[in-house]
Amino acid sequence: MDLLVVGSGLFGLTIAERAANELGVRVTVVESRGHIGGNAWSTVDDATGIEEHTYGAHIFHTSNDKVWGYVNQFTEFTPYEHRVFARHRGEVFPLPINLGTINQFFRRGMGPDEARRLIDEQAAELGGREPANLEDKAISLIGRPLYEAFIRGYTAKQWQTDPRSLPAGIITRLPVRFTYDNRYFNDTHQGMPRDGYAAWLQRMADHPRIDIRLGVDFLEPGHDLSRDATVGRVPVVYTGPLDRYFGHRFGALGWRTLDFDRRVLDVDDHQGTSVINECDEDVPYTRTLEFKHFHPERTHKGGTIVVREFSRFAEAADEPFYPVNTADDRAVLEQYRQAAAEEPRVLFGGRLGTYQYLDMHMAIGSALSRFDGTVRGWF
Ligand code: FAD
Repeated sequence: MDLLVVGSGLFGLTIAERAANELGVRVTVVESRGHIGGNAWSTVDDATGIEEHTYGAHIFHTSNDKVWGYVNQFTEFTPYEHRVFARHRGEVFPLPINLGTINQFFRRGMGPDEARRLIDEQAAELGGREPANLEDKAISLIGRPLYEAFIRGYTAKQWQTDPRSLPAGIITRLPVRFTYDNRYFNDTHQGMPRDGYAAWLQRMADHPRIDIRLGVDFLEPGHDLSRDATVGRVPVVYTGPLDRYFGHRFGALGWRTLDFDRRVLDVDDHQGTSVINECDEDVPYTRTLEFKHFHPERTHKGGTIVVREFSRFAEAADEPFYPVNTADDRAVLEQYRQAAAEEPRVLFGGRLGTYQYLDMHMAIGSALSRFDGTVRGWF
């Protein structure tokens, strides 16, 4: 083994693939789960033939041509364009907030200029006062009626906190489009891997110089691929949680997690689209996913799979999904960053290793540049 990669998510797999193919080195990848691919993993349900994303809905999108060229070596993408809808008081609206949402909500038929004037008037409610919290900030961006319908309940559920108690700085903008364009992403490229995430991820890992070890926790002592047995002896790329690497010596970094309520329904189509956000606070879940709509080009067997997502703060045993990133978290993170810089030939990468939310294209883009900037120099 010339290089040890900890974690087989898209960051770890990109480093492993590049090192094996470009540098010709022998890479061992340790993965504590029973499968590769990190949170991008998916499986196909036998009964319905539907591909399910194990850790929440994943849609690939990027404007980075280098990343797009890279991922297309391993998979083709379908032309899927993501669209999200919002349910408020039993009615379904298009998102992100656009002219269609505004006209449906206010029961009007405004053109772009008229709608812009209306939103500007409503956003003037603060009268120049500095926003004191997230609610103020949102009102100053889109006005109270749209905020109360589409942002307040959803945000309160996501953060388990009243938006009036959340800092204004969590949001800098709330996109409002004065056209009927409701594509969720503005990126140049988007789509779903044509034959599924698992096939894509397996192709990245499939190389004679890459040895994958599943079910191995790098931080459990007492085996020959553990931290104690490897750091300082072989270069390591670590993509697990930063605080756990250091035994939480400066405290735990805060994360939000999701609980998934999965149902197989005996109907062909439950909601007519892949994702509906549930905006009202009295509905306890934040989103409803219906996976089959990610692949309209596929023929499925009967039935459908629907998942409701519930958001909450992560406890020690939960999957860490989104960094909470409070001022306290950032102070703790700084201490871990300094400790990380002193580790001999250990690169901390990916969303857990850097305590950053990264979309798939960002994890891959970051791995490609850190491969060039750091890993190459090790050999
Ligand atoms: P991960 O995928 O988390 O991989 C890290 C791996 O390291 C894991 O497999 C873990 O088991 C392993 N590991 C950790 N510690 C150890 C250890 N001690 N020993 C051995 N192995 C270890 N991105 C998009 O582009 N589009 C989307 O629509 C999208 N939706 C998302 C929805 C949700 C709910 C979440 C949480 C993320 C979403 N993402 C999406 C982001 C995407 O999942 C990330 O970009 C991707 O997970 C980043 O890859 P990574 O390698 O950094 O981390």
